Amino acid sequence: MFTRVKTIQEVQAMRESGRMLAEVLNILKSRAAIGMSTLELNNIAASELKRLGGEPAFLGYQGFPGVLCVSINDEVVHGIPKVDKIIKNGDIVSLDFGVIYKNMITDAAISVIVGSPVSEKDLMLVKVTEKSLLEGVNQLKAGVRVGDISEAIQAKLDKNKLGIVRDLVGHGVGHELHEDPNIPNYGRKGTGPRLDKNMTIAIEPMATLGRHDVYVGDDGWTVITKDHSRSAHFEHTILITETGAEILTLI
Ligand code: MG
Repeated sequence: MFTRVKTIQEVQAMRESGRMLAEVLNILKSRAAIGMSTLELNNIAASELKRLGGEPAFLGYQGFPGVLCVSINDEVVHGIPKVDKIIKNGDIVSLDFGVIYKNMITDAAISVIVGSPVSEKDLMLVKVTEKSLLEGVNQLKAGVRVGDISEAIQAKLDKNKLGIVRDLVGHGVGHELHEDPNIPNYGRKGTGPRLDKNMTIAIEPMATLGRHDVYVGDDGWTVITKDHSRSAHFEHTILITETGAEILTLI
């Protein structure tokens, strides 16, 4: 289903949903610590979202067992929270979360380095991946083409010689967690479907310090870089407006 133009009421529900999501990610960012298990982060996300009055969008989605995806270092996305998976100093921890409120869904992710970075390259990876998301957002306005977003993200990541994960892409969002169109993190300006104002999309660059190739791990979920290079992932749910955009998952 191609992402629909949202009504005023639907947009308002997504603003609330996105505010809760951003608040939970901020809490997780401040709480993530060396020695903590990824399941603990999952449980904090579950209880904080309950307190705020939202429902988790990922739990049970195609059978996913957690409310939060926690992916570390060479794990790009879709890491399953586990009691025996312990965060170490310098880990790049990617936290991807989804919220349902009044039947409307938002989706967002951040990557944080816990403790002291093991290298300058890790810091650059995280910073540039986040910046590439904002470069994509800067393209948005009524009538934008998907390729305009893709090219802006790719330009930023290419300039810094980062690998761009191709097997996973951004997407429409709102009534469903994943709506059409796909929004790749590479592409050509002036190509692809047009997006109208009051449509809502999730832009989510995934970048690596090595090559772009990934595989799915033995658990059937975790997406891992083939060369085991470290990766980062940032995502926002965004409302397209007449002249620009409103990031719904930002506090
Ligand atoms: Mg997403």
